[in-house]
Amino acid sequence: MAFVITAPCKDEKAGECVDVCPVDCIEEGKDQFYIDPDICIDCGACEAVCPVDAIYHEDDMLDEDIPYLQKAKEFFER
Ligand code: SF4
Repeated sequence: MAFVITAPCKDEKAGECVDVCPVDCIEEGKDQFYIDPDICIDCGACEAVCPVDAIYHEDDMLDEDIPYLQKAKEFFER
């Protein structure tokens, strides 16, 4: 299980989440930040500081946000 960064991050990329993640699993991509779902420990710290409410637990995502989990997995497969 992991938290996932979704659409509001696109072109916003505020980046507060990166500084608060205790396991350093958030990286900057071309158009948004990504959470590595294999490393995230579900602490929720990133969700609390995101100024655009882009971060959701994968169990709480809207159906339309599910592709963002797949995008994150693909980003870290590089
Ligand atoms: Fe990092 Fe915690 Fe956010 Fe997971 S939930 S990405 S561990 S800050």
